[in-house]
Amino acid sequence: MKFKLSLILFFAVLFSMAQDSMTYIHAGHLLDTKKGNWQDQMTITVKNDRVLKVEKGFKDVPEDGTYIDLKDKWVMPGFTDMHVHMETEYNPHAYVAKYVDDPADVAYSSVQYAEITLLSGFTTVRDLGGSGINISLRDAINSGKVPGPRIFTAGKSIATTGGHADPTNGSNQKLMGDPGPREGVANSPAEGREAVRHRYKNGADCIKITATGGVLSVAKNGSNPQFTVEEIKAITETAADYGFHVAAHAHGDEGMRRAVLGGVKTIEHGTYMSEETMDLMKKMDCYLVPTITAGKEVAEKAEVDGFYPAIVVPKARTVGPQIQGTFGRAYKRGVPIVFGTDAGVFAHGKNAKEFGYMHEAGMPIMEAIQSATITPAIILKEENNIGQVQQGFYADIIAVSENPEENVATLEVMSFVMKDGVVYKK
Ligand SMILES: [Zn+2]
Repeated sequence: MKFKLSLILFFAVLFSMAQDSMTYIHAGHLLDTKKGNWQDQMTITVKNDRVLKVEKGFKDVPEDGTYIDLKDKWVMPGFTDMHVHMETEYNPHAYVAKYVDDPADVAYSSVQYAEITLLSGFTTVRDLGGSGINISLRDAINSGKVPGPRIFTAGKSIATTGGHADPTNGSNQKLMGDPGPREGVANSPAEGREAVRHRYKNGADCIKITATGGVLSVAKNGSNPQFTVEEIKAITETAADYGFHVAAHAHGDEGMRRAVLGGVKTIEHGTYMSEETMDLMKKMDCYLVPTITAGKEVAEKAEVDGFYPAIVVPKARTVGPQIQGTFGRAYKRGVPIVFGTDAGVFAHGKNAKEFGYMHEAGMPIMEAIQSATITPAIILKEENNIGQVQQGFYADIIAVSENPEENVATLEVMSFVMKDGVVYKK
């Protein structure tokens, strides 16, 4: 019996050894995101889904391994976009979609958006709000059923009644109903706690609140405060019980100030941020997620007849163009920055445009790249897994043809994408 068992064990070990997949990459220029510099002529050894080692020089490749030649490329860890919506992509149909599309329609679209995002070099994303299909999408990607980035999702955003993420905004009276914490609408500290616990129950990874009005919701005000400090505190404290951080959508300064005081980890957009709020963010170690690409896009689409409902157009015209300037001022004042675009407000796959906009507003390209690699890893508590090409990290590796510090637009054209050791683009 004992002999039989050890024989089984022997074959099990042999089998698992045979299953190991080894890949050897020769990287012409490899970015050390921590130091912020390029190392020339490096060999990356990938074992299954992890980086086994990173060595100087082009090492000999064993015959039984897979060889990937990136000798003339600029190689980096996969990027993280901290603000996407994997379920949606805005078009004139989007406002009707929630009444005519079935969840299955949304799911099929999200599969397509996920693949486009991955092929654009974004191997990790934080999804800041959908119907909850984003949770199923995360699971489908993790189990290898569909290709896509690693997703950290807020599930359904939390709003107050009539607030930016109230799911029945714009409905007629019959369909409007009175959604509550389960649907992501909370009107007191107690309901805020309940709403967070529903997100936990549904399988979310983090929490998103809409601390002020928003541009694209069917509502008049795009920047008024929509939560009290007490409500936000109840949400962030409950979120912490479950290991969640909280992201707050905010355009107006007062709602933003309350969110920062209430303990949120990231401010999304930050459009009308005052210098006082900037200083408060520094003090509270709260990050700005710029979403400049979304700001540019809504301003542009506001001029296309019928693209947005009439109530949205003036908001898109005023809020959109402000975002880049605010980002530039916040960066100069030393506000912590983490990369995020709001993809879904514009076409998925164009996430890397944000790098150019950040640079245009005064941020060095290397810092912009760091804000999309090592900084998100800290917020997502994945510092030992993503954001670097280092021993033990996930083998999320991307490459472009030119030095991004000399031509930032090269980041919009990926020549190679690997996630979890699997090559998706070559
Ligand atoms: Zn958003």
